[in-house]
Parts: sequence; structure tokens; C-alpha cells
Amino acid sequence: MKKINKNSLTIKIWKYLVLFSAIILSFLWFFQVVFLKTYYKSVKKKELWQVANLLKLKKNSANLSTIIDNITYDKNICIEITDNTSYSTHISSITSSGCMIDYKNSYTYKQDFIISDKNKQIYELENPRFKNNILIYAVKLDNDEYAFINTSIEPMDSSTKILKNQLIYVTIIVLVLSFIIAYYISKQISKPIIKINQATKILATGNYNVEFKTSENIEEINNLVKTLNYAKDEMAKTEELRKDLMANVSHDLKTPLTMIKAYAEMARDLNTNHQEKREKNLNTIIEETDRLTILVNDILTLSKMQSEIEKLKIEEFDLIDLINNILKRYDVFKELEGYNFKFIHQKKKILIKADKKKIEQVIYNLINNAINYTGKDNLIKIRVQEKNDILVEIIDTGIGIKKEELPYIWDKYYKNKKKHKRNLIGTGLGLSIVKKILEEHHYSYGVKSIINKGSTFYFRIPKK
Ligand code: ADP
Repeated sequence: MKKINKNSLTIKIWKYLVLFSAIILSFLWFFQVVFLKTYYKSVKKKELWQVANLLKLKKNSANLSTIIDNITYDKNICIEITDNTSYSTHISSITSSGCMIDYKNSYTYKQDFIISDKNKQIYELENPRFKNNILIYAVKLDNDEYAFINTSIEPMDSSTKILKNQLIYVTIIVLVLSFIIAYYISKQISKPIIKINQATKILATGNYNVEFKTSENIEEINNLVKTLNYAKDEMAKTEELRKDLMANVSHDLKTPLTMIKAYAEMARDLNTNHQEKREKNLNTIIEETDRLTILVNDILTLSKMQSEIEKLKIEEFDLIDLINNILKRYDVFKELEGYNFKFIHQKKKILIKADKKKIEQVIYNLINNAINYTGKDNLIKIRVQEKNDILVEIIDTGIGIKKEELPYIWDKYYKNKKKHKRNLIGTGLGLSIVKKILEEHHYSYGVKSIINKGSTFYFRIPKK
């Protein structure tokens, strides 16, 4: 048999249930057994006190005798009203067990009370007629008028004994019941927790195929399951990104490093007379280093965006100005490699609200691709049109993209096997960064391409 741990849910719930039952049972014991007599007497006293108040009000009423008889009949309370010589002026004509009517005027309590000159007094006496205890509430109604209201007190002993016996059974039954209920409640709660625990253990081994589930409909557990599934999905995403990075990046890093090493060695070993060749080698090293820099920057941007550390920093800026600034950076390309950039726009200024740095990155990546793939004319057009929204297009005259490739170019690490126009091999991250940024801004975007004619990458900025 499985050993029950003292910290287990069953034992804990049972402890609380027993404590709860114990408190309720002790209340029952106190009120039904210990305090029953006192409580009963106080109820009786209250009843007598209410009758006394009624008598004070009705003492001069013509039908006082009828009132008295009605009370005796209804409540088993006897009433005697006397003058200051303890002579009865009114008296219950109906007798009951609560009556201690002193026809012979032999009892001394009346005289006692009258002499004491108190306003009220409680007496507890034994009725010699029925041998039962009687509670008498003596009250002064007027200067020479006194009421003695009496009622019998039933002996409590036998009922207390019955109650005590009953309570012993009740206590045993409640304890057993609370154990059974605790067992079922804890089963209900612990079942899903055990299942979740098993799934978490599997997750800890790096298996993200587990699904956290619960069939018991407990809100807190449902929420826990939801949160765990969410955490698992996020972990899986990070893991996927890590694997992607490892697989693709390590390969991408290795190639330029090998090249750099080879060319550096060549440069070192070359005769100093081979100035021209040496320069060529050094240039290759610089190119490869540039490529490494681009790669590392892309990876950093993408992983930052994936982990969503960077939130959008929305600000207002001039789009035309931004593009002009970007184009300035390509002046070297214009001079050295004869690239021709055409920036077409009607308005001199177009203010938009967006994350400036990120939009800059989008345009920069798209122009970079256009440079890499454009045709022999080395022409790259950037067109901004303002109609219902602001349409930004980056147009090249290059090889174009095959229809079947179009859906994939936005994916991470998707690279065309064909060589770029320039001697730079891309990282395959540029367009996935573009996609991520434009989606963050909720801008629509796309590409139109005709093979051997060129491609037009575009995105639309909605007007405020
Ligand atoms: P890369 O670093 O390889 O350019 P990108 O994510 O920027 O990575 O682009 C993914 C792929 O999309 C490229 O390898 C290429 O096949 C295609 N592509 C992107 N821009 C163009 C373009 N202007 N013309 C033709 N093909 C393009």
C-alpha cells in the first residue's frame, strides 16, 4: 500500500475539515449540553418579563381577568395580582403546571417582595403541589399593586442526557464523513496536479510535444494549464530559434572565416613585390569581414525582435527625409560601382507616425536586396505615392523571383541558390526582418515580380 505522506493533500484537507467540524461540534456541545439549562431559563425569564410589561400597560383595563386567563392558557404562565397586604385582587382562574397560586396565602415570597420595596425580583421555588420548580417574576405595578407571574421550569437532565448520547454518535459520524469527503476532494484536486507534474517532467527533458490537459473543471487548474501551455509554446519557439541560429549561422559564419584566414595567409606569404595581388587579397578580407558584420547584425536584430525585447517606439517623422538620408549612404555605390538610384515622389514632405529606426531598417533591407539583384542597368527606383494610403515601392530591373518561390522569400534563412549580382551572399534574414517589422506596424506589404524584368517590393502606410 502506498504510504500516505503527512503533507499530502488528503491529510491537509482532512485536517482542515476535522478542525471545522470540531469547531461546529463544540458549539453544539456548549449550547445543547452545557448551556442548555441556563439558556432555557433565560428564555423563560424573558417571557415573564414580556408578560410583566403587558400587565403594566393593561393593569387598569376592565377585562384584565380575561387577559390574565388568556396568557395562562396560551403560555402556561400563571398570574396573581395582589394589594400591599398580599391579598389577591386578580388571579388566573385556569390552573396549569406553571401555577403556584397560593390560595391560603401561606407562602412568604409575596410578603418578602412587598416589604423589600423593590421594583422587580426573580424567585425560584419548588411547587409543593406538583413538586416541580417554578420561576416567579415579582413586579411592582403601582404603589399598592403587585404582580406575581410564575411559570414552571421543566427538568432538563433527561433531555441533556439524550442530547449528549446523540452528540457522541454525531461526532463519530462527522469525523468519518470528513475523512471520506477529504479523500474525494483531494483526489479531485490532486489528479490534475499529478498529470501536470508528469507532463512538466517530460517538458524538462526538452520534449516540447507534451500537452498540458485537465478533465476536472476547476478554474484555477484550468488557468494553470493554460499558462503552462503558453509557457511551453514560448519555450518551443525559443528553442526552434536557437536551433535555427545554430544550424544556419554556424555554417554562415564558417565560410567567411575560412576565406578570411586563407586570404590573410596568402597576403602574409606573398612577396612584398606583389603589391597588386596583395591588395586584392586584402580587399577580399575586407569584403568578407563586411559580410560577417551584416550577418551578425541581422542575427542580432532578428533575435531581439523574436524575443520582443524591443517594443515599437512610435514617433512622427518625414518619410521623404528619411529615404533621402538612407540614399546618401549609398553614395559610395554610385561612385564605385555605378549604381543609379531614382527617388520618385510628388510631395516634398510626408509626415508619418511609426517606429523610425525600424522603418529605416525595412527600406534599407529592401534597397540592399534591390542592389544585390538588379539588372545590368544598375537601376534602383524608390517611389512614394500618397493616395488613400502611402505606398512605398522599391523597384529593381533584375532577375525577378519565380512564382513558386514567392511565398517562401519572407521566411527566415530562405536563400535563392542563384548567386547575387554583387559578390555578397545574403544571410537569408533580410526579408524576414522586413516582414516582422511591417507586421508589427500592421502595414500591408508584398512583392510583384516578373522573371528577368525585375521585382517591386512594396508596403502601404495607412493615413492617420
Ligand atoms: P538574402 O540575404 O538572401 O537576400 P533576404 O531575406 O533578403 O535574404 O531575401 C530572401 C530571398 O528572396 C533571396 O535569397 C532572394 O532569392 C529573394 N529576393 C529578395 N529580394 C529580391 C530581389 N529584389 N530580386 C530577386 N530576388 C529577391
